[in-house]
Amino acid sequence: MTAATPRRPRIGVLAVQGAVREHVAALRDVGAEPVEVRLPRDLVDLDALILPGGESTTMRRLIDAYGLREPIAALARRGAPMLGTCAGMILLADRIADGDEPYFGLLDLEVRRNGYGRQLDSFEADLDVPTLGAEPLHGIFIRAPLVTEVGPRAEVLARDPDGRPVAVRQGRVLATAFHPELTGDRRVHRLLAQLVAEEATSPV
Ligand code: GLN
Repeated sequence: MTAATPRRPRIGVLAVQGAVREHVAALRDVGAEPVEVRLPRDLVDLDALILPGGESTTMRRLIDAYGLREPIAALARRGAPMLGTCAGMILLADRIADGDEPYFGLLDLEVRRNGYGRQLDSFEADLDVPTLGAEPLHGIFIRAPLVTEVGPRAEVLARDPDGRPVAVRQGRVLATAFHPELTGDRRVHRLLAQLVAEEATSPV
């Protein structure tokens, strides 16, 4: 017998509200085992978690109502990679302009909800993301948060055509202001799965 093939990473998608199905499909495409997370027990044995787009105020309320806040924070403290997209980025941010309290506070940046404004409610742009390769990444922005400031602990992975940050990384935490699950390009999900693999093989 040859060595066992490595276990597929089990990656959760918070499924209380928002764009869940497309993330589940993207995770399957990159060879991960997707798990829809509605209850604390769904978080057991997860290797990573996606906080999807949706409506961040509603998502906060439902995360609290289902008792998911502390177990998700605990998963992050254990070093499980996280990806927040759009509303998910808002939930991960350390600072929120104009009012809202931060929620998970795992990313050294400030966001403004719906910060691209009414004129630009939704738009698409080809983004240069050097860490993901030379090919541009097509970004679909839907009432996206605007990143108004990035602190020294976070690294900017991509900027919009006006130079504003739209993808960031801080250690094992990734976030995009756009929706990577809505295109066929799987590089962001592959990066998340790779972070799990790095963790599994890194020396103790
Ligand atoms: N505008 C939403 C919010 O502020 C985010 C939109 C999205 O996730 N597509 O929560």
